[in-house]
Parts: sequence; structure tokens; C-alpha cells
Amino acid sequence: MLIDISDDIPQMAPWTDEKESEAVYDYMRSGGYLTQFKKTKEFEKMIADYVGAKHCFVVTNGIDSLKLMLVAVGVGPGDEVIVPNWTMAATAFVVSGLGATPVFVDVDKTGCIDVDLAIQAISRSTRAIFHVSMNARCNDIVRLAAECQAKGIPLLEDSAQALGSYYKGKHLGTFGSLGSFSFSPPKIITTGQGGAIVTNDDSLALKIGKLKDFGRIRGGIDIHDIVGWNHKFTDIQATVGIEQMKKLPWRVNRMKEIWTLYSELLNHIIDRNGKKAIKMIPADSCDKQWIPWFVDIYIEDPEGLKIYLKSKGIGSRVVYPPLNSQPCFPHLNDHFFPVSEAFSATGLWLPSSSALSNEQIRRVCTVVGQYFSSPSKL
Ligand SMILES: *Cc1c(COP(=O)(O)O)cnc(C)c1O
Repeated sequence: MLIDISDDIPQMAPWTDEKESEAVYDYMRSGGYLTQFKKTKEFEKMIADYVGAKHCFVVTNGIDSLKLMLVAVGVGPGDEVIVPNWTMAATAFVVSGLGATPVFVDVDKTGCIDVDLAIQAISRSTRAIFHVSMNARCNDIVRLAAECQAKGIPLLEDSAQALGSYYKGKHLGTFGSLGSFSFSPPKIITTGQGGAIVTNDDSLALKIGKLKDFGRIRGGIDIHDIVGWNHKFTDIQATVGIEQMKKLPWRVNRMKEIWTLYSELLNHIIDRNGKKAIKMIPADSCDKQWIPWFVDIYIEDPEGLKIYLKSKGIGSRVVYPPLNSQPCFPHLNDHFFPVSEAFSATGLWLPSSSALSNEQIRRVCTVVGQYFSSPSKL
């Protein structure tokens, strides 16, 4: 018998409570300047301390932080930037947006850029390499960083999905010259829109600080020694961000519990041929130090399961298509990247909000089990 699910379980939802509302209310009554100032500094310091970086700059959003990183290391027209073929499109778009060429490289079994292939793809025009911690996972970034250092190529980390995740004891986003995070609503913490750049490099930090404020040599002084943009933050958002950061340890822990419960329940599901129906990337593939951002499963027909879940009031999302297959890159559509292709043909993100109750997770898994055991699959 199919259970009746009366309430919708979304694939993802931001998680805020009275703490954010009270903080914003207090801030608005305090006569603050609204734009970035003390609250923003406090938020930046919290992030820098949390990830263990010397500098942090918060900016308008995650794609802008990626753009500023490229500009800071001097990427421009004619340059090549190596990008994993399976990532959120923003990682490639910033490269194209600056008139440079994204050079796509396949990913490995962790979903992150294949380190060997990335090293092979280096040419005389390579001006930077992007490592994306896909779904907060990591692979041998230490080797990639060493190779980049030896060749004098900046390693940039798009760790948009990886706040709270580590590799060999070091926070993701701190292995390269610069690392980026996103605070859009589906991400680990949110400020509505927002991004952050972290670095231990003083001269890159100085540059990022200027680039986000019209290239001014200092705030409020209209002398510009470089050309910049306005990617400044606001203290209203920082007020929300500070409260979100306070909850981060709780959330990281809850995300681990959610992942563990899903893994246990989904592991038992078999298809009608008696075979294990669901593949997941094992939790120990990376020191057990990452917490997947979304609960990703790999199955024969993700679209089919998505439609079935939807009919039961449960949200899910098919994973990113390979970048080379996107209509905006027509010249690459007939290229073939087997691992990205396999991930995208089979991947589905299940409900992953940290506000999910165990009861809701059990319901999702029951419905997934019903899908695989039902004779017609709808
Ligand atoms: C979300 C995301 C971005 C873009 O961040 P925005 O804040 O939405 O601009 C870039 N890269 C990756 C890997 C992301 O997940």
C-alpha cells in the first residue's frame, strides 16, 4: 500500500528562525549604514577563523567571487583556464565572461576534476586551474596544488558547496591561491545572495579588496590605481550571515546525521531483479571529513524517480548536465567526457535541507523503495 504524504518535502530550503529576524530588526533600529561596514567585517572574520584563512572578503554572490579571483590572478582574453566538465555552470561562465577559454576536463569518481587529466591539460596558455569541491567532496588537491605551484599556475578553488568540509584536516577552499564560497539560499549557509573569497596571500587580498570596491585604493577615497567593480556586501546581509555562522556547527553535525540515515535506509533498497538499486559515493572516499551538501544517489532512471517522488509531494533535482553538452557551448556538444556523462545520466539529489526531520527522511526512503518495487514504476 502506498503511504499518503500530505505535506511537501522540498529538495532544499534555507533555514532561518527568530535569531535572524531579531538580529535584522535590532540592526535596522541601530541606525546602521546598511552597506558593508562593521557587521560585514565581523562576518568576514567569522568565516576566515572558521576555515582557517588569513583573509576573507564577502561579495555580492558566488559567481562574482569566482570572477574576482580570476581577475586578481590576471586572467584575460586569450588565456585558458582549466575547469571540470561537471560543475555548476558559473565556474565556466566566469572564464568565458572575461574573454578567456574554459578548457574542460573530465572528473573522477569523487565528482571532482581528475587530477591527472587536469595536469595533462596544462598548456602554454593556461593561466589558472579551477578545482571544484563537487557536492563538498575532494580528491588529491594536495598533488594538484603542488603541481600548480611548481608550474607557477594559480590554483583557484570553487568551494561554493563546501563550507564545513575538510580534506586531510584542512578546510576546503584553503588549498589554492584563492577559494570561493556561495551564500545563495540552497547553499550551506545563506544571506539571500552572497559570496566569499578566502586567501592567505596578502597581495592577492589587497587586490580583491580593491576590485570589489571600484578599484579604490581605500574605502571612501576616490583614487583608483586599478579598474574595479562594485561587488560590495551589505551589513543587513552580514547580520543574517553572522547568525547563520553561529548555527554552522549544529548544521554540519545535522548534515552528517542526515547523510548517515539516508545511506542506511537506501542501502537496503533492491530493484525488481533483486539487485541493489541505489549507488552512493562512499562516505570514506575522503577521510570522512566532507559532508555532502546534497544527498546524491545514482540510479538507472533519475528522471523517472523524480517524477514519481513529485507525485508523492517530494522534491528532488537531477544533477548538473556535463558542461560540454550545454547549448551555450555548441562547439563542444559532440565531445565525450565519460565520467561526467555517467554522473549526469544517473544522478539525482534527494531532499537535503538541514531542517529535515528523521521522520521525513524515512518517508522519502519509503517512497523511493516503493518506486523500485512497484511493477510499473508509475
Ligand atoms: C552555487 C554555485 C556557484 C554560484 O554561486 P552564486 O552565489 O549562486 O552566484 C558557483 N559554483 C558552484 C560550484 C556553485 O555550487
